Amino acid sequence: MKPPPFEYHAPRSLGEALDALAGAGEHGKVLAGGQSLIPLLNMRLAAPAHLVDINRLPELAFVDVAPEGVRVGALARHAQVERHEPVAAAQPLLRRALRLVAHPVIRNRGTVVGSLAHADPAAELPAVLALLGGSVRLARSGAVRDVPADDFFTGPLESAIDPGELAVSAFFPAPPPRSGTAFREIARRHGDYALAGIAALVVLDDDLRITSATVACVSLGPVPLLVDVSEAVGHRPSASADWASAARAVRERVDPEADIHATAAYRRHLAGVLTEQALRDAAREAADA
Ligand SMILES: Cc1cc2nc3c(=O)[nH]c(=O)nc-3n(C[C@H](O)[C@H](O)[C@H](O)COP(=O)(O)OP(=O)(O)OC[C@H]3O[C@@H](n4cnc5c(N)ncnc54)[C@H](O)[C@@H]3O)c2cc1C
Repeated sequence: MKPPPFEYHAPRSLGEALDALAGAGEHGKVLAGGQSLIPLLNMRLAAPAHLVDINRLPELAFVDVAPEGVRVGALARHAQVERHEPVAAAQPLLRRALRLVAHPVIRNRGTVVGSLAHADPAAELPAVLALLGGSVRLARSGAVRDVPADDFFTGPLESAIDPGELAVSAFFPAPPPRSGTAFREIARRHGDYALAGIAALVVLDDDLRITSATVACVSLGPVPLLVDVSEAVGHRPSASADWASAARAVRERVDPEADIHATAAYRRHLAGVLTEQALRDAAREAADA
């Protein structure tokens, strides 16, 4: 099928892009890598009257690494961030998660910020942003605001981006000292969307006891649910941590749906298994940090 008709805008500056989005209001859509939007248009599941293509704005293709974390511009492709060595050193979870996103050809076009804006609960990057307590910077003509991950994902394929706004960048904070992260997921084939996935963050104290353990869930509810399992795990060295209790806590909190790929019960089961695996991985990394 072909997409429904739309007016195509190809702005040459951020100002022009924001003006085009302001003019289009609720009838406008941003086109970034097109890896999610173009299929939606072709299947006529989306029918915006105006398409604002940001691919001629190279000033948005930046990746900035600082001690506080990594800021990724709206036109930074998955592959660019995945292969960026300073990013991998500053925030290793990003590369781990990006390697699980689709296939290399899709990662060559798809953007990190586009993936967040798309807000698919089956996608890896929203869970990473939620776990790390990151944020998305939104701009409209004359105003900029930073929206924390907690407030950004409002439902399946729904975010806090208002009509007329452009997500200009996303910020992924650096890991706290003595911490480790991990990402585990199960997909039917490598590159497919995950049936379920878990991103984990474990922080230790100077005696290598666990001070906090948190997971963010993929494909296990309408948004990337964050579950603090610190109490379940216990303030203990990781060798004696109660990972099974953490897995139970996550199984009880998730709200998975059934589809043609998996039943809700199977997804809930995976949530527990993956939680235990991801927490153990993250704790190992924290102990070596
Ligand atoms: C076969 C296939 C498999 C895939 N598998 C996975 C997977 O396993 N995991 C995964 O996470 N993703 C997967 N994807 C999706 C891929 O990661 C996309 O790149 C990503 O979802 C969207 O990024 P994009 O730049 O292509 O956005 P686009 O497709 O251009 O846009 C997606 C949506 O976000 C909005 N948007 C984009 N950028 C902005 C912005 N800067 N400001 C405001 N709104 C914006 C658009 O208007 C649109 O509504 C897959 C895609 C395909 C085709």
